[in-house]
This record gives sequence, C-alpha cells and structure tokens, in this order.
Amino acid sequence: MIEKVLVANRGEIAVRIMRSCREMGIRSVAVFSDADRTSLHVRYADEAYYIGASPSSESYLSIEKIIKAAKESDSDAIHPGYGFLSENALFAQRCHDEGIIFIGPSIEAIEVMGDKISARKAVEAFGVPVVPGTPGPVASEEEALDWINRIGLPVMIKASAGGGGKGMRLVKEESEIKPSLRAAKSEAMSAFGDDRVFIEKYISSPHHIEFQILADQHGNTIHLFERECSVQRRHQKVVEETPSPIMTPEKREEMGRKAVMAAQSVNYYGAGTIEFIVDDQLNYYFLEMNTRLQVEHPITERVVGVDLVKQQIRIANGEVLKLKQDELSQFGHAIECRIYAEDPDNNFMPSPGIIRHITEPLGLGVRHDGYVYEGYEIPIYYDPMISKLIVWASTREEAIARMRRALYAYKITGVKTSIRFLERIMESADFRNGKYNTHFIEKNQKFLTEEKICDDMCEDVAIMAVMAAYMARQEEASPSRPMGTRGNLWKEYGRRRSLLRL
Ligand code: ADP
Repeated sequence: MIEKVLVANRGEIAVRIMRSCREMGIRSVAVFSDADRTSLHVRYADEAYYIGASPSSESYLSIEKIIKAAKESDSDAIHPGYGFLSENALFAQRCHDEGIIFIGPSIEAIEVMGDKISARKAVEAFGVPVVPGTPGPVASEEEALDWINRIGLPVMIKASAGGGGKGMRLVKEESEIKPSLRAAKSEAMSAFGDDRVFIEKYISSPHHIEFQILADQHGNTIHLFERECSVQRRHQKVVEETPSPIMTPEKREEMGRKAVMAAQSVNYYGAGTIEFIVDDQLNYYFLEMNTRLQVEHPITERVVGVDLVKQQIRIANGEVLKLKQDELSQFGHAIECRIYAEDPDNNFMPSPGIIRHITEPLGLGVRHDGYVYEGYEIPIYYDPMISKLIVWASTREEAIARMRRALYAYKITGVKTSIRFLERIMESADFRNGKYNTHFIEKNQKFLTEEKICDDMCEDVAIMAVMAAYMARQEEASPSRPMGTRGNLWKEYGRRRSLLRL
C-alpha cells in the first residue's frame, strides 16, 4: 500500500498532486532546489528535502538526488508530475531497481511511446491511423526526396526523440528540403542527443484533439473523452477545452476506441494521453502518446467527474479500475487557460520577478491551480507558468462568459502576464464560434495583441470620459434620484471598462 509519495516536481503540479494525496490520507514529500526554498509546494508538503542548485540539471533532473530523497524520507512511491523526469525510462527503471513504485506506466511503454517512430509503428500495428509518412528514420537526402515525392509537399520533418514542439520543421518548397533536413538533424542532435528524423505529411488547418486514457495493471483500459487543444503558439498549447466544438458523438466514439487500442498496443497502464491531429473532414491521425499526466488534465476531471491523480495512485497500488466505459459521460463544458509570466506585447518574453499583488478569481465553477503568492519571486530557471485557470459551466457559451469573468477578476502586479491576451482569445469571434484550428493565434494575431492605441493612462482617461457621459445621462433620466443611490462609481467604471473591450 502506498502511504507516502515523493513528488519529483515543483510548482502548481506538485501542489495539485499533494492535494489529492492529502485527501487519500497519503503523506507527501516535496523536493526543492535553491530557487524553490520558499515555494508553495515545499510549504504544502508534509516533509521537504533539499536536492541542489537551481538549474534543473542539478536538482529536478537529477535521478540520484531524487532517489536519495525518496530513500531518506522512506517514500513508497514517486509521482513525477509532467516535464522533468516524467517520461524518462531510466528514472522509472531506477525507481523499480530501488523498490520504489513509479506512479506511471511500465518502462517499456515509456520507451516505445517516447520515440515518435517506434510509437507510430506500435499503434499502426493495432489499426490506429497515423499521419502518412516514412516508416522509419530517413537515412539519406536521396531517401528523403524519394519519400517527399510520394507523400507530396508540404511535409513536416520531425525528430524521432522530439517533444515540446522542438525538432520540427515545416517544408513547403522543394528547395527547402535539403537545408531543412540538415537543420532538423543538427537541432535534434543538440536538443536530444539523437539525430534520427522522419517525414510526415503536413496536415493543413489541423485540429489537435487528444483523448485521456486510464488503464489498470489487469488489462482494463478506458478513455475519458477528448480535449481540444488547437489554440497553440509555436506548437505549444495555450487554451484547452472539452468537449471539442467540432466533435460529433460518432467520431468521439470511434476515436475513443482507437485511443484505447493505441494504449493497448504497448500494454499501457496508468494515466496517459493519445494525441491526434484532425483535419476539416474529421479524418484523424495518431500524433503521439504522452505517458504521464498532462498540464490540461483538470478540464477532463471537471467534465467527467474523476480525480486523475487519485486514479494514478490507485492503479500504481495495483487496484482494479472501478470506472466503466459505458458508465462515463461528459457533463457540461470546461475551459483551461494557462497563465504565464510573460509579456505578450514583447514577443512573449518571460517576465520573471516578484509578485507584488495577486487577487485570484473565485466563485461558482472556477478552479485555480497555482503556486504563487504575494512576495513570491518567480524563478528564471523553470517554465514561467504561474497557474492554470479552469472554469466549468453547463454550456460552452456560459463557460466562455465565466472564463471572461474570472480572467477579468484575476489581478497580478509585479510581473507581466498573459491574462489580457487570454481575455482577447475569449473575446475573439473565431473562438466564440468554435471555428478555430491550430492557426488560430497566427490568424487572429492583430485582434489578440492590438488595442495598444494608447497607453494605460490614456485608456483610463477615455474610460473616465465614457463614465462621465454615462453618469450625465443617468442624471438626465432621473434627476430626482439622489447621487448616493446610483451605485458605486468605481464599480461602474470597472464594468464599463470590461464592456469597452468587446
Ligand atoms: P511535440 O511532441 O514536440 O509536442 P507533436 O508531434 O505532438 O510534437 O506536435 C505538436 C503540434 O505540432 C501539433 O499539436 C500540431 O499543431 C503540430 N503538428 C505536428 N505534426 C503535424 C503535421 N503532420 N501536420 C500539421 N501540424 C502538425
């Protein structure tokens, strides 16, 4: 039985995992680097172990140090969260060798799915459609040209070991093939120490739709429906929602079945995600499998009503999955916005620094998974994500209105954030209509980042003028009503301000 879990991670995901542990009566152990001495995950945990200097290579990526902390704390299991060592087969192997339960899939599943070429092969053998492309790594430029002639331009050159949007190159013209191939290989070598690349057809105007999987160690595999993740910047997700606005019940059923088969192709157990790329005609192709908890898992938790971290722990404990496919359904609509310490007006440059003030959004249907507080300094060493704002409502329209309300109520000073940019996404016609694909941000760039017609001061003066005109009109309409009963000027100011943004 798992009684103590070491969380080999930091930030919001470490706190989120520890919360589920606490509800299960499981003790949690934090690990932290120099930069994270005052981090919330350290304060929240039942115990905390220092594991080294701030760069992740000396702390959160150090297998040795994490195993040492697990042994010292007498932890039964390690939850790797996402990122860092979560998809590292050597780490899973090491946990296994030390008799510590790795809360995740088997070493073999991590290995096969961690490599895009072997993953494609594995799922294809189980009848899951993959993007048309080379069956293995391309050995020479001649072979690449030969395949591209067959597949047809445009194509994507991808690093087999790639991840996080790195090691990918779009090739539109014949003249770009050779230089792109060389560049992709050398980029793959320096980023992943592995220069194998393969070539895939480029799906134009695609959607990124993924399915959440849960499987136990006794052969039971289910899916928990889809997540639409097409709002992306540089192939990285920015906003996710479920259900997908383009999904039909028949397609959902079919893709869900294929996702389960993809997981079964590697005898998968634990929580995992099958990512598909989907074209306008709803043709779908397997993209990759993530053998861990995803950043965007809370929207599935909300709509399906399942705590995925608790399920991961139960599966790692060897328990039989109690959830049954035909008993699961999607209830309402959920949206997640990733809040980053970055400056959308300056090419999304990270904006580390001290949080001077934070007002977190609250209220019906709002979940806020974060880890920062007033006075906390966002370190420069790690991903600058501050938190994830998740809303739920009974309809998509209401969920968008709720997200707008929550984003508007979310105030952070001290660092620049992406909040305003996310508000604009919620306000854009394409998002509101549900008619968007992975080119959404590029296509709506102007709308999403404009409005810098004047600086904040000038904007305030304009709003004040609108307010004055509004108050004057009210005065004209009911001159007998004393001023004091007309509500708070500042409240009105806030409301006008948000209306002006539409
Ligand atoms: P990574 O592992 O680096 O995240 P993925 O293979 O998951 O890479 O792809 C990330 C994103 O890149 C996808 O969500 C999609 O937007 C885009 N993409 C990947 N492959 C293709 C393709 N063949 N055609 C069009 N877009 C693609």
